Parts: sequence; C-alpha cells; structure tokens
Amino acid sequence: MTALGVQNPSLGAEKTALLARLVDGLGPAELYWAAAWIATQASGGRLAGIAPTAAAAKLPAERLTIVYGSQTGNAKRIAERLAGRGEAAGLPVRLLRADAYPQRELAQEQHLIIVISTQGDGEPPDDARGLVEFIAGKRAPKLPALGYAVLGLGDSSYPQFCAIGQQLDARLSELGASRLLPAAMADVDLETVAIPWAERALEAAREALKEVTSAPRVTPLYAVPQRAVYDREQPFEATLLSSQRIVSRASERDVRHVELSLEGSGLRYEPGDALGVWPHNPPALVSQWLDTLQLDSALQVSHDGRTLALAQWLGRERELTRLNASFLAAHAALGGHAELTRLLQPEHATEKNALFDHFQPIDLLRRYPAAWSAEALIAALRPMTPRLYSIASSSSAVGDEVHLTVAVVEYQAHGSQHWGAASSFLAAVDEDGKVPVFIESNERFRLPVDPARDIIMIGPGTGVAPFRAFVQERQETAASGRNWLFFGNRHFEADFLYQVEWQAALKRGDLHRLDLAFSRDSAQKVYVQQRLLEQGRELYAWLDGGAYVYVCGDATQMAKDVHNALIEIIVSHGQRSQEAAKAWLAELMQQGRYARDVY
Ligand code: NAP
Repeated sequence: MTALGVQNPSLGAEKTALLARLVDGLGPAELYWAAAWIATQASGGRLAGIAPTAAAAKLPAERLTIVYGSQTGNAKRIAERLAGRGEAAGLPVRLLRADAYPQRELAQEQHLIIVISTQGDGEPPDDARGLVEFIAGKRAPKLPALGYAVLGLGDSSYPQFCAIGQQLDARLSELGASRLLPAAMADVDLETVAIPWAERALEAAREALKEVTSAPRVTPLYAVPQRAVYDREQPFEATLLSSQRIVSRASERDVRHVELSLEGSGLRYEPGDALGVWPHNPPALVSQWLDTLQLDSALQVSHDGRTLALAQWLGRERELTRLNASFLAAHAALGGHAELTRLLQPEHATEKNALFDHFQPIDLLRRYPAAWSAEALIAALRPMTPRLYSIASSSSAVGDEVHLTVAVVEYQAHGSQHWGAASSFLAAVDEDGKVPVFIESNERFRLPVDPARDIIMIGPGTGVAPFRAFVQERQETAASGRNWLFFGNRHFEADFLYQVEWQAALKRGDLHRLDLAFSRDSAQKVYVQQRLLEQGRELYAWLDGGAYVYVCGDATQMAKDVHNALIEIIVSHGQRSQEAAKAWLAELMQQGRYARDVY
C-alpha cells in the first residue's frame, strides 16, 4: 500500500485507520481499483486508466494493461471492447491510449495487450509514434517478465499491411517477453480476424491472471461502450439534401460539397470528427462483374448464415473496388496463374504493389480469367467496409446537417470506366435519397479548449474539409484566437474549393490569414509547404506564441513534406538544432498542439 501513501506518517493515524477499514476485505482486483482511483483523485481527477500518474506507476503489475494506437478509431474500438469484456470477467484491467502510456512502466509490466494500426506507408498512428519509437529504440528495457499479445490492424490493399503490428510483436519478443498468444494481423473487416482474436486474447489473459481475477464486476469501470442508437454496425439512413459541384467545369476532377440531414438520428459530432459512409457499389460495376464471370445476378448465395441474391452481395456486401492480397492469392490459385502467384512472394513485392496501384479486381478478372462459382467468390471477397470523410461543417452552424467535401473518383483505365465506391455512391444519390452513415469521433483532432489560442490549418485538396468546420465553429463561438489557413490545389480558376466562403470569412475577420498554393498554374509546382517556408518567420512566431497546428489530407507524401517544412522553420527561426526541432514537434504532437488527420 505504499503507493497509496497509507503508511506515510504525514497521513496521520486516524486517516490511516480509516483507509485501512475501507480497504479491508477487498480482493486484489478491487484493491487495484481502489489504488488507481485514489491515485487519480490525487492527480486531479482524470481516469487513472487514461492519464496514469506517478502514483499509478508503483501500482501492482498484476493487471492486464491494454494499449491502443489508433488513427481511424478501429484499434480504439477493439481495445475498448477488450477492456470492457475483461473487466466484466473480473480481470483488473487498465486501458490506455498509446500516448498516455508511461514508458517507464514497461519494465515492470507483466500482462500487456497492444492493439495498433498501420498507416498508409507503414507508419504508426500519430498517437503511438512515441511508444513505437521507444520500444524499437536503444532505451527499451529487457522484458523477461512480460507476457504480451499484439493485434495489428491494417488494410491489405496497402503494401505495408500491418507492418507496425509485426514490428512490435517481433521487437517485444527480442526484448525477452513471451507471447500470451500469437500475434494476429487483421484487415479492415474487423469481424474476420480482429474480433475472434480479441476473444482468444482475453482467454489467455484470464489464464495468466487467474490468481487475481475477482468475481465479475456489476458496474465495470470500462463498460463495453454503450451503443449509440446509430453507429458503425447500425448506420443511420441520412437524407441527401444537396450535392453540388464546387470546382469549375474546366477542372479535371469532380469535387462535390455534399449536405446530409441527420434529423431524428440523435447523432452529434464535434469539429474534427469524421462521417463514416457505408457505400453501395456502382450498379454498372456490379454488371461488369456479372458479365465477366458469366454469373446470374438472381442466384441465391448463402454465406455466414445469410442468403442473398448475388447482385445484392456484390452491390452492398463486398469490396469490389480495392484489390487485396488474399483475393489475389485466391484468384491466382483458382485460375492457375503462376505469374500472379509469383507476385505474392516477398521478393516480388514491388511488382505486386504496382499491380495494387493500377488494377482494381475487375481488371484482374478480365486479364486473368478464372471460373469462379458464386459461393466461392462471395467467400473470397472482402466484406464491404465504410469510408471515412472528415466532416466539413460545425453543428453549431448547421444544426442537424452534416457536410462533406468529396472528390469523385471516376476514371478510364484498361479500356473501361472505373469508380471509387463511396465517392461514386455519394455523387449518384438523388436528392432525398438515403446514405447509411455514422459518426467516427476523432479525439486527437480538436480545436484548442482555450478559444484565445491561434490556429494554423494546412489542408491541400479535399484535406481542407475539417478546416471549414473549424472556422465555422470558431465563428459561432466567437473564439478570439486567430485562424490561418494554408490551402493548395491544382488550379486557382478551377479548383479553389470554398473560395467565396474563405473570402467572406477573411472580410468578416473570422479568417485572419489565407495562403494559397496552386500547383499547376506555373511551370514550377508550388505546394503548401513552400508557402509555409516563405512565411516561416511569422509562422514560427505564432507557434512560439502557443498556436495549434493542424494538417489534413494525403499521408503518403504531403504530410511528410509538411512535417519536414515545419522542422526547417523551427530550425531557422527558432534557433534550434534539427534534433531539438524534431523533439519539440513530437512534444507538440503529444500535447495535441500538432494534430494530423491524414490517410
Ligand atoms: P490532390 O489533388 O491529390 O492534391 C491537392 C493538391 O496537393 C494538388 O495541388 C497537388 O498537386 C498537391 N500535392 C501533391 N503532392 C503534394 C505534396 N507532396 N505536398 C503538398 N501538396 C501536394 O487532392 P485531393 O485528391 O483532393 O485529396 C488529397 C488527399 O487527401 C487524398 O489522398 C485524400 O484521400 C486525402 N484526404 C484525407 C483526409 C483525411 O485524412 N481525413 C481528408 C480529405 C482528403 P499536384 O497534383 O499538381 O502534384
């Protein structure tokens, strides 16, 4: 009980006796919770599981620690579910976002489950950068007493599928820790791998912690998250109010401003959140599949206890627009295409990645025929997954509506029309038509609590969406901090998204600075990071004065280039070394003052 200070003489005999009476008869799990609760009170009231304190560092290690690193919310959802189920089963559990995990505790940790996603190019989610670097680095402690399990989440249509989960799993083993169960690497359809793995992990943890497992709690601290009336699994059928092209006819692309009604849903969102959209595949694409495979749309197909017509499976239940490794493998085997099988070997990863970049599954079916039966096809294809769009409105300004900025993906390739699933779906829905949606909250992309803080927003292309929400919100709440937007796109004339709104906001004083980078209007490309560098002195002054910086858009190149530009600015205008500039940015990220919504 030293961690609680019960034997601390300064507490006095009376209080010590009172505490002793209170804890008398508690089992180990309850004692842990009592300790955590008291430590939390001492630290100012935030949940110990979310913001552990120095006192918590000394708590008994006989508990299950669940750590998650999440970019789009899936890892968080699985981790919360694990924590809730574990607690309901009587396990002493603490649940932490990776950036709240006190790294000094790792050496004492005994039972650890990590649920972590991998971003586009094999990067950790922003909230887990620090922990991943610590575990990978030289300072990581030896971990002979640790039993652990890693669940990697990813998208198998990306080349570096679950790279971070795999690296962590290997590294923890290298540090001497033992696996509670083998790691699993789960694709975007969480049901197939992630949920069953989570159940097995819980079993393994229960076995490892059986000495300290108490009776199931009646009111678990980490309750299995309450289902909102409408959520990912049960989306709300939002009504399309309008879908307006916001680029000129001259633009090479179609970008829409989409407005949906959430009236009657009870759904609420904050600036920074995303809207999940469950798309329906384009009917013309479904027809292409049926024609190519010579299958009848009305065929009744049973899979996983459900029977639907084939056209319905393909139209709503299966991914048709993204190629992934498992479908490639199944297709290569069925068609006997050695050329494709070869691509699945690690030494041909570059060719496989090129195929993923340029081929949708339909191109594969056409170029490399195979005799799919309807049943086998539905079993081999990935279940449909929702797409997330950064919300482009503030509910303080638009009430029950939610607005999106959608780049419509439609192009010709390999001799036929191609579509992106969700953007084409949104573009094709008629006014008053229905769109199945849910809110995906993004706690790491939030306006400053203090309205007097300045904000710097960097959002090229449709990455500008959440900044429309930010500016609306700051206007509605009369926030006194200044707002500075960096926006870039291809052409000033054709692609200046929300031009009129930004100009009006500038005039009203709701936007204080606007810097623009139109990449294709001059012989030399100009990107937002160039504008950042040009404004380096002023930008550093804002940062130094406590401004928050936000980046939204492409993760693979833009976010990295912007990050490097910020480092360069801090080095040149803040008179810091490269290392110190990096460390400062990492610190800002940790504090939520440098936040990114990128994928
Ligand atoms: P885009 O056309 O791909 O790019 C917008 C502008 O950025 C263009 O002028 C482009 O120039 C320029 N650009 C290209 N490479 C760049 C780089 N390395 N650094 C800075 N600027 C660069 O824009 P978009 O299709 O509308 O969307 C941007 C991306 O953001 C997409 O990948 C989308 O998926 C993503 N996005 C993510 C979120 C999110 O994470 N929440 C939200 C919205 C959009 P050039 O084309 O002339 O080279």
